[in-house]
Amino acid sequence: MNIDEFRQHAHLMVDWMADYLSNIEQYPVKSTVTPREVYNSIAPVAPKEPEDMATIFQDFEAKILPGITHWQHPNFHAYFSGNSSYPSVLAEMLTATLGAQCMIWDTSPAAAELEEKMMNWLKQMMNLPLNWDGVIQDTASTATLASILTAREKCSNFQINRKGFQNNEELRIYCSQETHSSIEKAVKIAGIGSDNLVKILVDEHLAMDTKNLEAAILADLKQNKVPLCVVATLGTTGTTAIDPLFEISKICQRYDIWLHVDAAFAGTALLLEEYRDMVKGIEAVDTFVFNPHKWMFTNFDCSVYFVKDKQALIKTFEIMPEYLKTNVDHLQINNYRDWGVPLGRRFRALKLWFVMRSFGENGLKERLRHHIKMAKDLAIKIENHGNFEMVMPTHFNMITFRCVQNKLSLDQLNDLNRELNTQLNQSGKVYLTHTTVNQKYILRMVIGKTYVEQQHVDMAWQLIQDIAKRLI
Ligand SMILES: *Cc1c(COP(=O)(O)O)cnc(C)c1O
Repeated sequence: MNIDEFRQHAHLMVDWMADYLSNIEQYPVKSTVTPREVYNSIAPVAPKEPEDMATIFQDFEAKILPGITHWQHPNFHAYFSGNSSYPSVLAEMLTATLGAQCMIWDTSPAAAELEEKMMNWLKQMMNLPLNWDGVIQDTASTATLASILTAREKCSNFQINRKGFQNNEELRIYCSQETHSSIEKAVKIAGIGSDNLVKILVDEHLAMDTKNLEAAILADLKQNKVPLCVVATLGTTGTTAIDPLFEISKICQRYDIWLHVDAAFAGTALLLEEYRDMVKGIEAVDTFVFNPHKWMFTNFDCSVYFVKDKQALIKTFEIMPEYLKTNVDHLQINNYRDWGVPLGRRFRALKLWFVMRSFGENGLKERLRHHIKMAKDLAIKIENHGNFEMVMPTHFNMITFRCVQNKLSLDQLNDLNRELNTQLNQSGKVYLTHTTVNQKYILRMVIGKTYVEQQHVDMAWQLIQDIAKRLI
């Protein structure tokens, strides 16, 4: 391909992108391909000779698109949203075009300095402690790993990095039973061992029970184990439960324990003043992660990681081979390769800058409140409907509900709701996922796609009622 062909196809593809996004509701939300269908449709070996872009693109439409689940469809209500937006996509096009490796300041000063500034913008907009430092990670999983590694190093005076585990000290990590699986993954990778991850009981709202937390810490201390870190979740993945951060922070202070906050999904809500109560105690937090790639209209990947002690983070990850030394290292610059696992880094700050400027703080808030209102309004309708019940409180833009019938047993109700979920997703019109609470199979519905409107929610609710009526 030469530059003229590049220009020609770029124009065609931008038109395709705009058409796709304006016609997205015509696609089935969830892909309907069967396992191996896409694999078997792709040539068994790479082409020997160049192929032209028109042919390649034809195959993209014929073979790839049917195997895509349309995450930007406004009736995608599954999991947590992985959001995008027009300004974000435009920035990603530029990022790909620049193709810059942003590992150190020297390899693209603008990327490093824009990243620092964006972290400061977010701190101010979300009313987070101004003495924190921030860095963009690829995912919340990576940020949590960075947190646990930093906690481990600080606790061992940076000796485990050097010598490995020596005296079989049992480091203990605490999180609630509802915590995301990425915590266990991080604990394993950090060499701490998943047996040392203590799952704390939850209360009736599925938030961490702090009495049980303190009891677990005391029991460990008695056995000469080392309480290393508590992970508090704001907005659990199953039901968006909110761990009581203030009480947890007091316990962490009392026993000198590292405190990490996983707000991967719900952190975005801190843009809204009415959600600031959930971070009472935030000054005592050591590290905090949230994902603009979930609910802040910035496409994957973009995970914001704040730390109180920047030096501890850097000391945990720092490397200084000769070929990476530069003559500005002593100046006031950030070399983000030392702030996490990967050396090479994409220029992710650009899309945050585009998104925050294009929406403006007020535009972001308006959209979040719009999502939350639509969710709360629907929760009321569900609550008032004889065939349905709401299961957990609606804190944000996600509702949890199930279909109910007096005469049915728990198992029968679970079958009914499973079938309801299957048929909803098979309709191609909506996509919802489920979780279980006290053995009840329940549906989760996230109303959080960037451009979702009331008519989409109304259509989904009508469909839910229609299918349920047929099943009962
Ligand atoms: C989505 C989610 C994660 C994982 O996020 P990644 O960025 O995909 O690693 C972690 N914790 C919570 C609470 C989540 O909702």
